[in-house]
Amino acid sequence: MRLAVVGAGIAGLATAYLAQRAHPDVDVVVLESAAEPGGKARSSVEGGHLFDWGPGGFLTNAGETLDLALALGLQDRLRPAADAAAHRYLFRDGGLRPVPATLGAWLRSELLSPPGRLRALAEPLLGGRARREESVHDFIARHFGHEAARVLAGVFVAGIAAGDARELSLDALFPRLRKLEATHGSVLRGMLAARRGAPTSVRPTAAAIPTDGRLTTLEGGVQALVDALAAALAGRVRSGVRVLGLDDHGRPGEGPIAVRAVGAHGEEVVAADAVALAVPAYAAAELLAPTAPEAAAALDGIRYADVVVAALGYDRVDVPTVLDAAGVLVPRGQGVRALEVQWSSAVFPGQAPLGKVTLRVVAGGTLDPGLVTLSDDDLLASVRRDLERTMGIVAEPEAVRIVRWPRGIPQFALGHGGRVEAARRAAAARWPRLALTGSYLSGVGLDDVVREARAAAARLAGVPRV
Ligand SMILES: Cc1cc2nc3c(=O)[nH]c(=O)nc-3n(C[C@H](O)[C@H](O)[C@H](O)COP(=O)(O)OP(=O)(O)OC[C@H]3O[C@@H](n4cnc5c(N)ncnc54)[C@H](O)[C@@H]3O)c2cc1C
Repeated sequence: MRLAVVGAGIAGLATAYLAQRAHPDVDVVVLESAAEPGGKARSSVEGGHLFDWGPGGFLTNAGETLDLALALGLQDRLRPAADAAAHRYLFRDGGLRPVPATLGAWLRSELLSPPGRLRALAEPLLGGRARREESVHDFIARHFGHEAARVLAGVFVAGIAAGDARELSLDALFPRLRKLEATHGSVLRGMLAARRGAPTSVRPTAAAIPTDGRLTTLEGGVQALVDALAAALAGRVRSGVRVLGLDDHGRPGEGPIAVRAVGAHGEEVVAADAVALAVPAYAAAELLAPTAPEAAAALDGIRYADVVVAALGYDRVDVPTVLDAAGVLVPRGQGVRALEVQWSSAVFPGQAPLGKVTLRVVAGGTLDPGLVTLSDDDLLASVRRDLERTMGIVAEPEAVRIVRWPRGIPQFALGHGGRVEAARRAAAARWPRLALTGSYLSGVGLDDVVREARAAAARLAGVPRV
């Protein structure tokens, strides 16, 4: 059985690896248009600083990426975040305000006015239950009050989706919150119950990784996962090969699939018994438009946010802030363009050389669409202004890497679940041996991507040879 995987981001690499692992007789080939595998998951070392270009880690409680890393033999390279990562700051009214981590801390916090705090804490009484899909902003307003929604909804989604809380769907982006509401009638009650019942387990790995939801990375950054997947797929990943379309080899839906592609040696056709499309929604739409226009239309409805990542290395003496947290979230309207400043070397101390500091600024998103088009010089100037305002850094960075991700993060807007269902249904009707996989389906995090890859591998690896 031959499985062709289109796209060698984490989705495609994981689909190919898991399919091959479950069925060693499956002949897998991964076709990737870029020169290197990894997609958004890339890292580089510059001036001794480890810079992740896209994802900077994964959470251990979901277990998907952790299990994948363990299967790949990476247990000794797992690096859990330092305790500082449990805390964050919000930049507001010209200063850094700690984001309260507990109910008691919320009671004392000045992020909300006293009436705003009281309203937020009355959530178990006033939250109620929704009967239909609602935006993240509306959900927070209904449960915790309008002030809480105004102050917090934006930053709540900025770090995950770089999007607009009034447009993003609570149901698609945070299904767990909807479940808490359905089960407990209140988010706060549900969270307390979940905390009481949470198992505190430690995986039997050499590094004894706590599976308490701690952010975790690998020595060498997320790139280590990509390299291990590519190595395990030995020679089956063909970079520099762009897929152009899919055709039938025989009766529609019943014969092998002809994957049309172009690479350094010109056009070719790869015949496959099954295909996993592990490309962004807009790329999948393009590939499916001629044969499955309904699926393509649904996929085309999934919009993306442009984002920029600026990774910077500093000497410790040039950073006047005490780096005792994961970083700073910035609500809109504070005169700062960045969405977030991640204190990477406070979270993962191994990512900066001794006496140095590594930071990552994430900017852009749907509320600042022009940012990605700025020149490197203008982007750096904007990032440095933001660092001066939020953290008092005036010195020049000693290492810089600016990465633009146009259409970088899928937006789970209202109606997302319906679009995904329509795309899957229409694609399966025309191409029963094809699976859609990737970050635009059920979650943008690496764990969601690996979970979808596992599902795609399970569905396709066992299909009989045509
Ligand atoms: C700035 C940023 C920060 C993030 N931070 C985190 C984080 O800290 N933690 C976390 O869990 N997640 C994070 N994410 C999300 C996570 O990185 C992504 O969801 C994940 O990497 C997406 O993987 P993917 O394989 O679905 O897509 P991609 O990585 O986009 O891979 C798709 C691949 O398909 C290829 N391709 C496209 N069209 C074709 C074609 N026609 N033929 C052949 N190949 C094609 C592309 O070149 C690409 O390599 C972040 C994302 C960004 C952008």
